[in-house]
Amino acid sequence: MVLSFFQNACILITFLSIIQHFARDKNIFENLSINKRIIVGIYSAILGVILMINTVPVTDEVIIDFRYVPILLSALYCGYLPSVISSIIIGIFRFLFFGVSTSSIIGLIAALVIGIGFGFISSLKVSKRTKYIYSIIIVSVVSIASLAIVLEDFILIFKSLIMIIVGYSIVSYFSIKYTDYIIEIIEIYQKLKKEASKDYLTGLNNVREFNDSFNRVSNLTIRRGEELSALLIDVDYFKNINDTYGHDAGDTILKELARIFLDICRDYDVISRMGGEEFSVLLLNCPKFKAFKIAEKIRKKTENTDFYISENKAIKITISIGISSYPELTNKTDNLIKDADIALYEAKNSGRNKVVILNEKKLKDS
Ligand code: GH3
Ligand code: MG
Ligand code: MG
Repeated sequence: MVLSFFQNACILITFLSIIQHFARDKNIFENLSINKRIIVGIYSAILGVILMINTVPVTDEVIIDFRYVPILLSALYCGYLPSVISSIIIGIFRFLFFGVSTSSIIGLIAALVIGIGFGFISSLKVSKRTKYIYSIIIVSVVSIASLAIVLEDFILIFKSLIMIIVGYSIVSYFSIKYTDYIIEIIEIYQKLKKEASKDYLTGLNNVREFNDSFNRVSNLTIRRGEELSALLIDVDYFKNINDTYGHDAGDTILKELARIFLDICRDYDVISRMGGEEFSVLLLNCPKFKAFKIAEKIRKKTENTDFYISENKAIKITISIGISSYPELTNKTDNLIKDADIALYEAKNSGRNKVVILNEKKLKDS
């Protein structure tokens, strides 16, 4: 018995660990799509079937299994749909695998009632602990009904019932605890990953993430034979703003500026804070004339925006932008940022509040 119990625990832990692996980069903390719920239902059914086959002989006469535990987990964490799907699959499998008999029909009905019951519990606005207790009640009622039909010996029914309830309660309790632990780990992992790749002030990519994205994007561009443009953006006279209105006001402006970039650029463009008041935008599949249009839009929007540094104090700022573009102006993607910096330098030197495209002559001279 101890060995089979241990086997069941290993199976459960393995399945939950596999979920951890696949879910760690997914957004599991918002509403799951129907497709994902169906996948959870099927996954939980596979686990349920394996647990059903791996029975635990508690005494010579009483055998139990933990097929209802994955149904409970799918209901608690993903709602009604996966709970019902997994119960149907488990019930049908029981039916097909063990052949048509009174006990397999009862097994099918019992699984369905459990699936619907757990699904209902999942929709209640009560704590997880209360849902867990309700699930024990449902398992008890379903077990009494099905045991009473299949078995005649009252003592045996009673013994089986106790074993089923105790076994289910213990295993589902630890499974919930373990699942909560996995979710916490995923939460921490995603938070740390985000913190390691995002700039804390603006939420844009930080330099480290920029480097990774740059390599990915430039390989993609070369492979697909596309164009890639880079904007390097620097706030004009930002030091004066800090000196006049304070560092916090400067921070507020940087945050607002990031919002303007996000607003104007396309979802797949890579916007990063390179440090201080300098930003970069990688414009994917974008020739220089289109990059110029986008840069001008950003420059004008910035120029026309009232940057509120306190509730009733707004100031104006301007930015300078340098543009480089592969393969039109820059023959190697690796030089994009360096060349955009040359163009930015020109923009600064020729009066600021300007967009300058890398001058080919300048490139040859440098
Ligand atoms: P230019 O037009 O030539 O770019 O002039 P500038 O004053 O913007 O250039 P400079 O590089 O001299 O100044 C950049 C300033 O940005 C200096 C620094 O105090 C400020 N800065 C850097 N990082 C931050 C930050 O995170 N928050 C704030 N508020 N200021 C920052
Ligand atoms: Mg500056
Ligand atoms: Mg600067």
